Amino acid sequence: MLPEKGFQKILGLGDGWQVQQVDYVEKASKVLIRIQETAALWASESCPHCNCKSVGGYDHAPERTWRHLNVCQLQSEIVCALPRGQGKDCKKGYTVRAPWEGRRRGLPQEFEAFALTLMRAMPVSKAGEILGETDRPLWRALFAHVDAAWSELSWENVVGGRRRDEPQAGTPLADGLRGPASQAGAAGGGRQGRRHGGTFC
Ligand SMILES: [Zn+2]
Repeated sequence: MLPEKGFQKILGLGDGWQVQQVDYVEKASKVLIRIQETAALWASESCPHCNCKSVGGYDHAPERTWRHLNVCQLQSEIVCALPRGQGKDCKKGYTVRAPWEGRRRGLPQEFEAFALTLMRAMPVSKAGEILGETDRPLWRALFAHVDAAWSELSWENVVGGRRRDEPQAGTPLADGLRGPASQAGAAGGGRQGRRHGGTFC
């Protein structure tokens, strides 16, 4: 199997995206996974300005990288110049969102999911050692997921300071409440606790 086809499957890219090339850069000890859109992408796009389905490719945004999970202990990155589309009715442009983008800019969903799994079980610094990453992007990913979980939570059922709708086990909020957020209170200065008027634990 060609590595490009293997990564196409691993990343779960639909027919709108294609792994163009996978390279090992020896000097940087990195694996670069280059992805580009295909013509099929535009059939599934709609204009974010007027919601029309008639969208075509216009040009490309500057090339960006996303930190991906390591490949056999080697740091790997997704590299892509995201396409910019244009609504054919309104003539307004927009940058297509990468399907692998996580909640934090520069981190793919798979990386965030694995990082959250590790941070549920161990200190962030230890998770960073395993992932080959510094603490900062991991904290940012964690805060982004906890923020998202808070925003999705309904407070209509709060009675006497206690929620009836406890978050389901396995959700980012439940994870945040159970483990990493308590670390956030210590290492991150209790950011969430201040915002929501209490601590997580
Ligand atoms: Zn439009």
